[in-house]
Amino acid sequence: MTYKTISFDVDSDGIALISIDVPGETMNVWNADLIEDFTAAVDRIAEDDDIKGAVITSGKTTGFMAGADLNMLGGVEASSMTEAFEQAFRLNATLRKLETSGKSAKDLKKGMAHAKPIAAAVNGLALGGGLELVLACHYRIVADHPKLQLGVPESQVGLLPGGGGTQRLPRLIGLQNAAMMATSGKPTDPATAKNQGMIQEVAPAEELVAKAKEWVKANPKTAQPWDKQGFKFPGGGGAMDPRSVQFFMAANAMAQKQTNHNYPAIQYILSCMYEGSIVPIDTALRIESKYFTKLLSSDQTRNMIRTLFVNKQAAEKGAARPKDAPPSDIKTVGVLGAGLMGSGITHVTVKGGMNVVVLDRDMEAAENAIAYSKKILDKNVSRGKTTKEKAEEFLSKIKPTADYNDLKDVDLIIEAVFEDPDVKADVIRKTEAVIGEDVIFASNTSTLPITGLAKHSSRPEQFIGMHFFSPVERMPLLEIIPGEQSGDRALAAALDYNRKIRKTPIVVKDVRGFYTNRVVPPYLNEAMLLVKEGVKPALIENAAASLGMPVGPLALTDETSLSLGWMLVQSTKKELGADYKPTGVEDFLETMVEKLGRHGRKSGGGFYEYPEGGKKYLWPGISEYFPLAEDQPSAEEVKDRLLYAQLIPASHCLADGIVPDPKSADLGAIFGWGFAPWTGGPASYIDTIGLEEFVSKADSLAQRYGERFHPPASFRDKAKAGDKLYAKAA
Ligand code: NAD
Repeated sequence: MTYKTISFDVDSDGIALISIDVPGETMNVWNADLIEDFTAAVDRIAEDDDIKGAVITSGKTTGFMAGADLNMLGGVEASSMTEAFEQAFRLNATLRKLETSGKSAKDLKKGMAHAKPIAAAVNGLALGGGLELVLACHYRIVADHPKLQLGVPESQVGLLPGGGGTQRLPRLIGLQNAAMMATSGKPTDPATAKNQGMIQEVAPAEELVAKAKEWVKANPKTAQPWDKQGFKFPGGGGAMDPRSVQFFMAANAMAQKQTNHNYPAIQYILSCMYEGSIVPIDTALRIESKYFTKLLSSDQTRNMIRTLFVNKQAAEKGAARPKDAPPSDIKTVGVLGAGLMGSGITHVTVKGGMNVVVLDRDMEAAENAIAYSKKILDKNVSRGKTTKEKAEEFLSKIKPTADYNDLKDVDLIIEAVFEDPDVKADVIRKTEAVIGEDVIFASNTSTLPITGLAKHSSRPEQFIGMHFFSPVERMPLLEIIPGEQSGDRALAAALDYNRKIRKTPIVVKDVRGFYTNRVVPPYLNEAMLLVKEGVKPALIENAAASLGMPVGPLALTDETSLSLGWMLVQSTKKELGADYKPTGVEDFLETMVEKLGRHGRKSGGGFYEYPEGGKKYLWPGISEYFPLAEDQPSAEEVKDRLLYAQLIPASHCLADGIVPDPKSADLGAIFGWGFAPWTGGPASYIDTIGLEEFVSKADSLAQRYGERFHPPASFRDKAKAGDKLYAKAA
């Protein structure tokens, strides 16, 4: 028998060593070839009398296995639910056969049959379907690396662990631990896994296989605990156990509170665990596959997998990179300005393995960048996430300076000085006078057109925009903005650099606000208009939470500050003159900032009060100035306004080519301003409800609240033609 994805070697004791090494993948993943090979291997172990047991390990140094190939799952097109179920159940059936050697549960329970011993030698991370394979082995021995991850992250893309995870985990570590792991998707480390009973042994990586073989040899006849007479769930389980009854009541309530009913996967995980805990494992696995199939065939899961996994990965790997541009070798980056953004950019750059020369007006200002990183590193040291030595090494890679000559050997420039065209023009000229002729110059401006700034450059084809978000070390999106004259090499360098700092990039058009800043202000304005109309601030914040927004729009306005909003209104008015279109929040912002001194979180509070050491709460004083309306709108109405205040500008950006395609619109929204991740993004959401429904809802909102809700004309045409935003295969 030849295999494509595994090696299968039987030693003189009759112990098979299966080493998984899926070709063409950096990490092992369950794909069609591996499922086929593994199923054949399991049959062989069960049927060949000369094979006494097996050890399963990974042939890759990157880890044991990272789960299922989500590209494969996203593309499953089953002709019926029955067929989809059979496809989903296939892995479960194989893993069940692995742990039973094909013996019936009844015979195993009665002790009339035994399974051949199987041990997993886990030499690196085991996630999702990887961990589920490990759990189906009788003995689990894991390398003693504290950072090694063992987890089931499927819920993060709207799925559930469908390879037995919802059944074997609770049978090993108890319902509560298992539910926490599977609903949060957060991994655990080997020591914790051993304490909980998920694995039996932790050992040095080089000893794993030998120790696993020893165990197999010493235990010729075995069975999983749940295949033995008298098995009980650790910590209690089943419909009659008061501990598990109480647990399920609390867990369901908590899950719905946290997810606002937006994530069926969370509900289904708990259902799998409840239903599965009152039936034998063979039935339980079928229950799991039933819920898994339901999720896999839902639009929501398809959208989440597509955006949060497939398109995110492709973007990060550089899907938008011009193919012919030579790879950039970026070792040292020159960062101009050591303020909030420059310091954050310095930090992520060093974290990405590069050195930084950071320049400011004087040495003291430049040293801010060191202080910024030091604060983060000190916290990490105190939490045991890094060591003092590593923190010092990190800081030694930052060279603060006020002397342009220190920039002469850098491989890339990122400019983050004041948002003032004259200041920017000056630093562009001074920098270009010293840097190498080929060096790409990127500006982190948030409002100034890149094409305009490039006029101050003697090499406009090497000039580009790179728009980071604050705080840089936490915000996952990077907007890359080619100006009119930016060349392929500039775009390639921006994407090559991005790959090192591991952000999610989108490439957008050079227009005012780029993409994200064309959508966020109308959304925040809508929330302010609601307050102005007398809608209860708590209703607004709760409506946003139930949409799935991670922070309410009023809290977000406080973060970005009302004074910034007020300043932008004034500067935009000045810049556009007669072309300025009032948004309706001008007088509101003026009252809040100028009259009431409500600037935002950092200075005296805004929509919220921020008591020292206490929890923030909505400022009750606001109703004195903006009295509450007697008739409050329904939560649905508020939700619609907040949702469409984002969908409409996002759809205009798509229609006008400001974002090039639906996938960039979706990635930018979720990773840029936290648009409800369960939707897969605005374009996915619109496709799911259908363009016709979208246009008609937008029209009805426009009729009631104004033209800001008008959908783009091209969306109306697409709706008429029955089109979708995503082409079928995207
Ligand atoms: P900041 O005021 O915190 O920092 C600006 C830094 O530039 C200061 O340290 C200042 O000393 C330095 N500087 C000013 N003139 C200089 C000169 N001639 N030579 C060298 N250094 C000089 O501002 P910030 O918030 O970090 O913003 C910087 C840039 O990033 C701006 O273009 C801004 O629009 C953009 N941006 C800001 C945010 C944000 O959330 N703050 C987000 C995205 C982009």
